[in-house]
Amino acid sequence: MPELPEVETVRRGLSPVMEGATIVSVEQRRADLRFPFPDGFAEKLAGRRIMSLGRRAKYLLVHLDIDLVLICHLGMSGSFRVEEADAGHVPGSFHHERSKDTLHDHVVFHLKDDRTRSARVIFNDPRRFGFMLFGGRDCLESHPLLSGLGIEPTGNALDGALLNTLLRERRAPLKAALLDQRLIAGLGNIYVCEALWRAGLSPRRRAGSIASTRRPSTPRTELLARSIRETIADAIAAGGSSLRDYVQADGSLGYFQHSFSVYDREGQPCRKSGCGGTVERIVQSGRSTFYCPACQR
Ligand SMILES: [Zn+2]
Repeated sequence: MPELPEVETVRRGLSPVMEGATIVSVEQRRADLRFPFPDGFAEKLAGRRIMSLGRRAKYLLVHLDIDLVLICHLGMSGSFRVEEADAGHVPGSFHHERSKDTLHDHVVFHLKDDRTRSARVIFNDPRRFGFMLFGGRDCLESHPLLSGLGIEPTGNALDGALLNTLLRERRAPLKAALLDQRLIAGLGNIYVCEALWRAGLSPRRRAGSIASTRRPSTPRTELLARSIRETIADAIAAGGSSLRDYVQADGSLGYFQHSFSVYDREGQPCRKSGCGGTVERIVQSGRSTFYCPACQR
């Protein structure tokens, strides 16, 4: 499943094509994906200008020139493909390669920009867990999909004091608390494993054990907050560099496979210098956790 850095990379890849463009028409090739498309989906989008392309957690937000926001989710296997007059490319790269089978092209946005250059933005999704819904611009934060979401892990708002507040009453394992979207939004299995490794904290430890009920923060909440922000920022930066390559050639870079520190590395040596431990895999809440028992305490 695409995680936040992949969605952010997709957003950055699409924004030069979509922002400021006018939607000439939309081809909707099915009645539903994970959910039915909204009534009048194509008609409501036709003729609208795209003001900006945003993101909240793992939702792409297409802000239009009316009180309407198109909320898109990639689901398990969704991807966007850009086809311009000269070439096509898939923005972003993914742990699991994206489908290029046109059989799974479910939505096609026909765009033109101010200089009447045209482009097509195509949504492809073999497993159809993705979706597109509408929200109102002025009440977006209260949309059922968005209203319960916690803080973004990308900005400085996620600091040691906030993490201390979020975790101090939590008895769940630290990993489960970090996956709770009501606390931190958009953080998924891969980057929780990576951030905990970076912070040297065990995914098994009780979440509240790194926080304090008396002090505003602890060295461990400070370190973990920084580790989360850095892990996400590094992944987005890696996505950005893959994006430049994608624009030139439609290759399969799969940068995520190569840049993991613990995720998917069971039985391999820990990458922390001087550690000497071996990465283990355990199952927590039905999901694989990868960690190094030697340096993650
Ligand atoms: Zn280690």
